[in-house]
Amino acid sequence: MKIDILTLFPAMFSHVLGDSILGRAAEQQLVQFRTVDFRKFSTNKHQTVDDTPYGGGGGMVLKPDPIFHAVESMLSESEMNSTDSSGSSADSKPRVILMCPQGELFRQKKAIELSREQHLIFICGHYEGYDERIRRYLITDEISIGDYVLTGGEIPAMAVIDAVVRLLPGVLGNQTSAWTDSFSDGLLEYPHYTRPADFRGWKVPDVLLSGNHAEIEKWRRRQSLLRTLQKRPELLEQADLSEEERRWLAQRKWE
Ligand code: SAM
Repeated sequence: MKIDILTLFPAMFSHVLGDSILGRAAEQQLVQFRTVDFRKFSTNKHQTVDDTPYGGGGGMVLKPDPIFHAVESMLSESEMNSTDSSGSSADSKPRVILMCPQGELFRQKKAIELSREQHLIFICGHYEGYDERIRRYLITDEISIGDYVLTGGEIPAMAVIDAVVRLLPGVLGNQTSAWTDSFSDGLLEYPHYTRPADFRGWKVPDVLLSGNHAEIEKWRRRQSLLRTLQKRPELLEQADLSEEERRWLAQRKWE
């Protein structure tokens, strides 16, 4: 997967993309990151990327031309790279993702969807926001990481990139852990325990020490259901549950 990030602050990404699991994934060429300062695509002599809003009001607005030019140059580069020797081009077009508090709320389902793409382009905003024509005519997706407003799109883009890249085959040491994580099957994950079996008198549930894998699986599924009921009951409406599980949950709810 190739990930391009358009930002006015490329330095913010160096540790996040260069360290730990994401850094290793890049080293192993499972993903290729590129940060691009879109100020370079400004055509005016002061290289400005923002201007005052038409109609008045506070704050500065990101101008359309530097962001259009930057994305278009990436799209044509991608088209050239995906055109094979016979002249036909590959189907997959890059996803152009605008980070914005007004966008679709980011969820695990979206991370899974994006992890199947070959090329993602993130646009990180700043100031009051973007010229509306960027939203209307340039992008394929608009993503928010939550109902709150940050100063810029860099931290939201990092969150999305991290959630997507850890799903790529080979990135996590143990790939199954990505598929049992919270939200992957619409539920919160079950509780984990490790050694010691008795810590200050707080004991690990017997079933986890029993070696009976069928019983452990059953316990984990039930804990996952219970935890979701307690913490995020609205998730259960969409979850794929058996009739028996629904009855069991109804009983727990009643209790
Ligand atoms: N005036 C805008 C509004 O009310 O919708 C908020 C602009 S915010 C100060 C500046 C930039 O930070 C946004 O353009 C976006 O790129 C990013 N940003 C802030 N909060 C975000 C969120 N919750 N999710 C995604 N991006 C966010």
